[in-house]
Amino acid sequence: MATTAGNLLQRTRCVYFRDTAMPCNKREPGTGCPAITGSNRMLAILGTSEHCIATNPSDMCVALAALEATIHVQGPKGTRAIPIGDFHLLPGDTPQRETVLEPGDLITHVTLPPPVKDAKQVYLKLRDRASYEFALASAAVVLSLKEGNVTRAPHRARRRRHKALALPGGGGGRSSGNQQTLPTSARLPRRR
Ligand SMILES: Cc1cc2nc3c(=O)[nH]c(=O)nc-3n(C[C@H](O)[C@H](O)[C@H](O)COP(=O)(O)OP(=O)(O)OC[C@H]3O[C@@H](n4cnc5c(N)ncnc54)[C@H](O)[C@@H]3O)c2cc1C
Ligand code: SF4
Repeated sequence: MATTAGNLLQRTRCVYFRDTAMPCNKREPGTGCPAITGSNRMLAILGTSEHCIATNPSDMCVALAALEATIHVQGPKGTRAIPIGDFHLLPGDTPQRETVLEPGDLITHVTLPPPVKDAKQVYLKLRDRASYEFALASAAVVLSLKEGNVTRAPHRARRRRHKALALPGGGGGRSSGNQQTLPTSARLPRRR
């Protein structure tokens, strides 16, 4: 029986991480990352670093990101509400640190905003076999269309768009409440 908090915090399926006879920067910082030149078919293409290319294996996290969940935490300094987009960390040069949780933090509950009216939702998972198998790749989207225009952009696109608006030359887009209208010609910046 799995739990919501446990699923949010499950560790990578990287085979080197799970084989304690092998070096692994995530398990033992500074020892190296054999996955970069080794068995990495289930590991990441985007968001990697020279220290770690592991993926988070959770299906639920992908769907919760598209639904814009908030993770509620109780810790030694009190309570915090963390948007799921800010909860997990990219490996960078500290792959041993996977989330913004601090020692003593406990996830108490997870909340979702009300469903977006008339939005379509889909979760797609590509895997090697039909059951009991983690994703090779997966995607979730919540999208609203009105007269051919996107009235609610996908979560990732909207986060990227906000960054683009902060750049010189970034423009376009109107927002109101939790809805944002992007011009159909809106172009997202290339991911670096
Ligand atoms: C054979 C198999 C196949 C699986 N396939 C998939 C799959 O396809 N997709 C998928 O998404 N998952 C999959 N899982 C993962 C599974 O669904 C669980 O989510 C995962 O194993 C975590 O288990 P758990 O929920 O019992 O958490 P636990 O193992 O109990 O906890 C995981 C971690 O979270 C910490 N933790 C737990 N609760 C809290 C809390 N409230 N606050 C702070 N820290 C907490 C624990 O201390 C631990 O470090 C699979 C697991 C197995 C064994
Ligand atoms: S990808 Fe990350 S988890 Fe896997 S071996 Fe490299 S450092 Fe360890």
